[in-house]
This record gives sequence, structure tokens and C-alpha cells, in this order.
Amino acid sequence: MKKGLVFLTLLAGLSAAEIVLPSEKALFQVPSGASLELEFRSLQPGEVLLVSLPDPAGVRRAVVVFRDREYVLTSALRFAFVGLDLGLEPGSFPMTVTFERTNGGRESVRRDIVVEAKEFPRKKLWVKENFALPPKEVEERIRREAELVAWVYGIITPRWLGDGAFFQPNEGKVFPNFGQRRIYNDAPRSTHTGVDIAAPQGDPIRAANAGKVVLASHLYLSGNAVIIDHGLGVFSFYGHMSKILVKRGQAVGKGDVIGKCGTTGRSTGPHLHWAVRVFDSRVDPFSLFSFESPSFNNKELSR
Ligand SMILES: [Zn+2]
Repeated sequence: MKKGLVFLTLLAGLSAAEIVLPSEKALFQVPSGASLELEFRSLQPGEVLLVSLPDPAGVRRAVVVFRDREYVLTSALRFAFVGLDLGLEPGSFPMTVTFERTNGGRESVRRDIVVEAKEFPRKKLWVKENFALPPKEVEERIRREAELVAWVYGIITPRWLGDGAFFQPNEGKVFPNFGQRRIYNDAPRSTHTGVDIAAPQGDPIRAANAGKVVLASHLYLSGNAVIIDHGLGVFSFYGHMSKILVKRGQAVGKGDVIGKCGTTGRSTGPHLHWAVRVFDSRVDPFSLFSFESPSFNNKELSR
């Protein structure tokens, strides 16, 4: 896909922040020449943004602040991921980058990131009330498991554990159902926070990138599930597997088989439920695929 790259620049010191419009790349530049690149597929809820430092010469660190979170880039770690949660209300969000120079100088630049609305698909399902509402006796289990998963996502590894770009964990057909609003018996009940990939029972499921297994358990709703921590706040989730082939704490390489496709948990047929978290943002796994930054794709720099 040929991308029309639009580079926008802003000199520090202007009082009004320039806006970042939905192009595919933007540059935050300061008068001394230091710059930070911002890449994304689109500026919408459910997307991942990549910030990277193309040339760290003369820069001790670059600190990016966006929606109350700080991301620190250095010559040893030249990129960071920023998530736009699928439930984020569209609007304008400031991003500030401060370059701390090796000579002690400091320069800041601010841009407003304009997040556009996204229309997620809707699906109406008619089911028996006891399926739409889980039975009382399992409610407690579902609640505990949701807490466990939230706890796992809360432990951030401040290093990058991945190995270059992400890839699709199974070659099956992908359903475009990320963010789908599911309406059971005319009442909105849930949002589908990942994508489903149709695959035959027993088909291998592979790690979308290198990382560390931080959960490998049977969950009531997700069935046999694995969560891999890729570092820098990025986690991938794999659900409904017939078999888990890894253990919690284990390091996995990109493409390693972590389990087999199945239909465990609340599932109507063999498929992989694949989801990605970036800190507390639920994002479309495929939005991780579009980054061209050499820092991110360079094996040496991404370890
Ligand atoms: Zn799913």
C-alpha cells in the first residue's frame, strides 16, 4: 500500500498548538533540529500510535506526555506505543514532547491530536435470557477472573520484549468484528474488544511477537486463554483455545506455537479470539501492523 506521507512541522514557541490531522505520519520538530515522529493507521478510537526518535544525536531523552501518561524515549529505546481506547470519545487531545539535550538545553513542542469518531459494527443476537445474563453461580467467578486479567494488564515491563513487527497469529479468515457492539435481546450488553479469526479445531496459534507469558489459564468466558507481555505496555490475548502449550512466566519467540485452536468458554465454534491492550487501551490488533519506523523494525534497536 502506497502511503501519502504528510509531514507537518511546528516551530517551538508558538502559543497556539497546531493540530495533527488524520494523515499517516506527523513530525514534532524543534528549532535545534531534534524531532519525534508520530505514526498511525488512523486517528480513531481503537488505534495504536507509535512515537519514535529517528535521530537521537544530541538528545539525552525525549519525554512525550499524552492523556496523563508519560513516555520516555532515549537513544537506547527509540520508540513507544500510545493507545486510543475503543471507547474514547472523539475530540482533541494535546500531545507534548520535551527534548532534553545532552548539552543541558530543553525544548518543547505541543500539538493537538484530533481523534475522529468511528462507527463500530453492531450485531443483534437473540438468545435465551439465561445466556444473555450469566447464571448467578458463575457471576462471582467471572468477576474474579476479570480482576485477575486487569491485574495482569496492570504490571508494565518498562523494556521492549518484542522482536520487530507484529504478525497475525493464525492464517485463518479474519472477521471484521473489532469493537462490535453486541445487542442481546434488544439491550446493549457487551463490546467485542478483539478480532475473531476462524481456524480449524487444533490449528496452531502462534505468538504475534516475542514476549513473556503472563497468563495461561482457563477462564469462564474466554476458555483456555494466554496473555503475552511484549513490554512497553503492549499485551496480546488469545482465547477459546482447545489446548494451551505454554506456561506462565515462560519467554516466547515471535511465531512460537502457544496453543491450539478450539471453542472453549463462551464460543459457538472453533476460532481464535485475538485482542491487544496498550496500557489501559483496548485496540485493534491490526492497527499494530502499519508502522514503518526503522527504530521499531530494526532488530538491534528493538531489543
Ligand atoms: Zn471474539
